[in-house]
Amino acid sequence: MEFVIITIFPELVEQVFKWGILRRAVEAAKLSYRLVDPREFTNDRHKSIDDVAYGGRPGMVMMCEPIFKAMEALEAQDALKESRKFIHLTPIGRLLNWETAEDLAGNDQLILLAGRYEGIDQRVIDTFADDEISVGDYVLSGGELAAMVLVDAVARFIPEVVGNERSVAQDSFTTGLLDHPHYTRPADFRGMKVPAVLLSGNHAEIENWRREQAEQLTRRKRPDLWKRYNSGKSGGTGGRSGGK
Ligand code: SAM
Repeated sequence: MEFVIITIFPELVEQVFKWGILRRAVEAAKLSYRLVDPREFTNDRHKSIDDVAYGGRPGMVMMCEPIFKAMEALEAQDALKESRKFIHLTPIGRLLNWETAEDLAGNDQLILLAGRYEGIDQRVIDTFADDEISVGDYVLSGGELAAMVLVDAVARFIPEVVGNERSVAQDSFTTGLLDHPHYTRPADFRGMKVPAVLLSGNHAEIENWRREQAEQLTRRKRPDLWKRYNSGKSGGTGGRSGGK
């Protein structure tokens, strides 16, 4: 899988590939990335990528030409893959969730367009975007953090990116439930004890405890997920492994 990120702040976005699991995945060639700066596709002295909005609203808008030229350059380099999705990160997009992240991981290439200012000339979006995705109901100053969130969430579903595949399968949401609490050594830290069952060595009881904790947490913190999980149990469309 290759991530292509179109951004005027490539150094910022690159950080997501420089640390932890994603850095190791890049080094092991499980994923790759390419950063495309629209400023490289401008002709004027100031490398302008924005202009005033038609209609007189305050704030600038990212212009068509640098982004069209960036896409044409990718095409000329034969860098566009057959199985790809072009995604515009925007607060007006559909909300990102784990199912979307898992679906997107099935592509060979994701082209992510990060906006700045008031946003991007609509003609760019009409021409290239296959999908529009938001990372939450709030407005960020730019699409870079949103692109980084999407990259990280999607990368976890690329085979062999997360060292232990089972940990992805047990993550919050993928089971239809929130994750249970975790503990590590020492068993007694300043009088705060790890639940005895986790020290019992009885795997069936440990699994039961984890399931109960996950169910209680989900019921309390995310009634929407809990409802869906239970509808999965009765043959509806709950979480992927809901109803186990
Ligand atoms: N005028 C836009 C609006 O009200 O919807 C907000 C523009 S925002 C200041 C600049 C850029 O940040 C957007 O073009 C988009 O790429 C990105 N952005 C902001 N919030 C986002 C979110 N919740 N999800 C994804 N991208 C976001």
